[in-house]
Amino acid sequence: MDSEYSAQDVARCDLCKIAITQNYCDSCHVNLCKPCIVEHISADDGKHTIVPFQRRKSTLILAKCEIHQNKTCKYQCQDCDIFVCSDCAMSKQHKGHEYLKLEELFNTSKERIGKDKEDLDRILPTYEEIAIELENQIANLDEEYEKLTTEMSKQREEMHREVDKAINQMEEEICEIKLKHHNILKEHLNDIKQVQSLMQKTLVSLNEIEESNEVSPTIHYNSKVEEFRKLPPKVNISMPKFILTGKQGQCTK
Ligand SMILES: [Zn+2]
Ligand SMILES: [Zn+2]
Ligand SMILES: [Zn+2]
Ligand SMILES: [Zn+2]
Repeated sequence: MDSEYSAQDVARCDLCKIAITQNYCDSCHVNLCKPCIVEHISADDGKHTIVPFQRRKSTLILAKCEIHQNKTCKYQCQDCDIFVCSDCAMSKQHKGHEYLKLEELFNTSKERIGKDKEDLDRILPTYEEIAIELENQIANLDEEYEKLTTEMSKQREEMHREVDKAINQMEEEICEIKLKHHNILKEHLNDIKQVQSLMQKTLVSLNEIEESNEVSPTIHYNSKVEEFRKLPPKVNISMPKFILTGKQGQCTK
């Protein structure tokens, strides 16, 4: 049911406040029932424009001419850009000027307003849809970001596990390397000590021979110094280095 129509249905006369209104004074903007029209018109000298209620506000409210009493301005002077009455239009002041009918301007403007209203009515739902979409996005923001943070935490744990695993493996490797390193140095030390003791024994026997006056051993003495003069090759083992390559570290020797 058309709500505007039902509102019109129950509009009551503004004068007697009882009867249902059938007419409207477009000049005074009052609802009038038929019997009250006469009273309203006789109330003062002002001009009244009584129209059927359905056609209320169809009479244009035009400004009174400031120069010509009881004349309303129905035109716009294009040259002076002011509203004028028909008497003004005939006067010398506006000789040769161009005019536009205010009623036509009014109607054109009303049409444009109506079209704008239709356009806005058509555009508005799009904005409503966008607003709803944005509100939904805002409402889901907490959840979406929660998901992201959870995913990141999982990744963090995974990466920690991988790093722990890699470092543990490297620690094992380091232990093995250290053991090998230790063994090599120890072996070398043993070799050196053997030579050392051999040299000491040799020295002792040389002392004995030197002090002896026996001919045979002295003559048969065979020098072994050349063997000792030639030093054994130096063992040079560098410490393993820790190099981080991408996700996994590596130990090199
Ligand atoms: Zn009345
Ligand atoms: Zn009136
Ligand atoms: Zn005038
Ligand atoms: Zn003019």
